[in-house]
Parts: sequence; structure tokens; C-alpha cells
Amino acid sequence: MSKTYKIAVIPGDGIGKEVMPEGLRVLEAAARRFGIRFEFTHIAWASCDYYQQTGQMMPDDWKAQLQGQDAIFFGAVGWPATVPDHVSLWGSLLKFRREFDQYINLRPVRLFEGVPCPLANRKPGEIDYLVVRENTEGEYTNLGGVMYAGTDREIVIQESVYSRFGADRVLKYAFELAQGRPRRHLTVATKSNGIAISMPWWDGRADAVGAGYPSVTVDKQHIDILSARFVLQPGRFDVVVASNLFGDILSDLGPATTGTIGLAPSANLNPERNFPSLFEPVHGSAPDIYGKNIANPVAMIWSGALMLQFLGEQAAHDAILKAIEQTLASGPRTRDLGGEADTTEMGKAIAELI
Ligand code: ATP
Ligand code: MG
Repeated sequence: MSKTYKIAVIPGDGIGKEVMPEGLRVLEAAARRFGIRFEFTHIAWASCDYYQQTGQMMPDDWKAQLQGQDAIFFGAVGWPATVPDHVSLWGSLLKFRREFDQYINLRPVRLFEGVPCPLANRKPGEIDYLVVRENTEGEYTNLGGVMYAGTDREIVIQESVYSRFGADRVLKYAFELAQGRPRRHLTVATKSNGIAISMPWWDGRADAVGAGYPSVTVDKQHIDILSARFVLQPGRFDVVVASNLFGDILSDLGPATTGTIGLAPSANLNPERNFPSLFEPVHGSAPDIYGKNIANPVAMIWSGALMLQFLGEQAAHDAILKAIEQTLASGPRTRDLGGEADTTEMGKAIAELI
């Protein structure tokens, strides 16, 4: 008897509420075809509507409410007209990432047929790599302060913090990922020429962890040239691993080279499965297009495919990707892709192919 996956469904705000039904439609289609069972728990909190009613983004016992779930399927959060973005973000998504120790941020980058590419002369298949961002330490600390504030002698310090534990676990994840792909190639983002303490150390951790993966070829690249190559030679990449700040930048730059933000999915993973992992589109709540049902649902749908893959349902993941591929190539397509279809039509087309 197959397992039932318990999924917390959190649409959030704005177009999160419009793309979520399409994400679920496609998951249900995949479930029917592959004999998978889901138990969805629909959650209205982690949204600005909830904040307006209660003065907080989530109930006090949010962690307990989510603890038994296998995964969180998340739309988008943020409605700046009523709640400042830092309040909505820190009150929801960033709490999940931190308190559920989702230390891997994974973003696939892929160019599809039928999607106009902002890079000249790139063919589908030529851009196909994964960005793995360390999601918990590095530059994103609140350690530091301002001295002599407001005077000509003003000084600001903000520390970066890396731990062997934190670096090794993300590097290990990236090596494992690379080892399981046909090209077995890992690019390690660094800046050991300029950031002369932490980055040589990071390179050393990559060597130490990499010693356990002799079949993976490793290429350490400084973040500046690496960024340029994302644009100029994207075919070089297979798996790319980076510390928090560099990974943040690369994981926006990569998807930007493959067309519309409406396609890019992401996973925030706790690979040990001590806590639920979270799957969400890269895009935000897009207040400018909310209410028209014109948002591209692919990023949400692809995030659902990543969730199935993480749950061990590789065949279902592959089927969804194939259906996305086919729909992007021959329609219907939403307006951001130059088409006329609405969110629902595109979601239905993908579900029907499955
Ligand atoms: P965040 O707050 O998460 O950083 P943001 O508010 O900066 O995100 P988005 O909400 O992602 O940005 O919107 C950026 C632009 O992309 C907007 O013009 C929006 O309409 C467009 N956009 C975002 N998602 C989609 C989508 N799924 N389909 C079509 N257009 C989209
Ligand atoms: Mg926003």
C-alpha cells in the first residue's frame, strides 16, 4: 500500500491564491496517474489577510500545526499596501526557513522550447543546471553594529559567519546531486582572491567534502566571472553551489536568463527530513497583476514537481516536467509568454497532458 503524503497548502497572498489551484490541479492529476495519495491541509494563515485580522502573520502554535506534515506547498507572501514586506516576510517564510532548518535552497534553471530567451542565440537544452544556495548562515547574520553613528567617523561592521557543519552539509548535498546527474560536474562559487579568510576556507571545505566524490569534476570559480558566465556561457554549468549571499544572487540571475519569472520554481529543503521542506515559486505575490487570473502558473506547478521528487516520486516529477515542456512549446500560454491564455487554461492544459 502506498504512503499518503501529508501536505500543508498555503496559498498566501496575491497571485499565490491564483496559481495555487493550478498547482493542486496538476498534483491531483499526477496522483491519479501514478497512484499517489495526498492528504492536503489548507491553511489560510501566513498571509496578509490573516495579519489584518489578527495582527500577526501566523498563529503562535504554527510550528506544532505543521510538524507532522511531509511538505509545505507555498504560494507567495506579501501585500505591501497593507503590511510592510519585511513584516510579512520575516513573520512567515523566513521563520519556516530558519526554524525548520531548510538549509538548502534549490533552484533549477532551464531554458524551454517556446520561451523567448533574453540571451542571444541560446537553444533549449543548452541551459540546464541547478543552483544550490546555502540558506542559513554566511553573510545574513545580524552580528555587527554602527559606531560613531551620525559623525564623520561613522563605522559599520557586519560579520559573516560560516561553520564547518553548515558548509559541509550544503557541499555534501551539492556533491550528491552532481553525482546523480549525467555530467557529474560541480561549480563551487568562491571569492578566495578577495575575501581572503572565509573564502579560502570555503574552498578547503569543498576539497575536503569533494574527496568523498571522486567521480564529480569540480570547478571553483570566483563569483564575478561566474556571474558573467551565467550570461555568456550557461552551457558550462551542471550543479552550482554557493554560500548564502552569492547563492542569493546566482539563484535570481540564473532563472532570469531563461525567460519569465513566471516559470522559476524553488525548494527550501531540510534533507534529513527532521522538519517539513517547503516548495514555492520564485516569484512574489505580484499585486500589479492580481485579480485578473493572468499569472503564469508554471512556477507553482513546477514547484509541485520538485516536491514530488523530494518525496521520492521521480516518475510523477518527470511526467509533470514533460507536460510543462509540451505546453510551453505548443500552448496555451499566458501573456508573459506572449500568449492569450489565462492562469486556469494553462493549468488545465498541463493537467490534461498528465
Ligand atoms: P518578492 O516580494 O517575492 O521579492 P516582488 O514583489 O519583487 O517579489 P513579484 O511579485 O515576483 O516581485 O513580481 C515581479 C514582476 O513579475 C511583477 O511585474 C509581476 O507582475 C511579474 N510576475 C511575477 N510572477 C508572475 C507570474 N507568475 N506570471 C506573470 N508575471 C509575474
Ligand atoms: Mg513583493
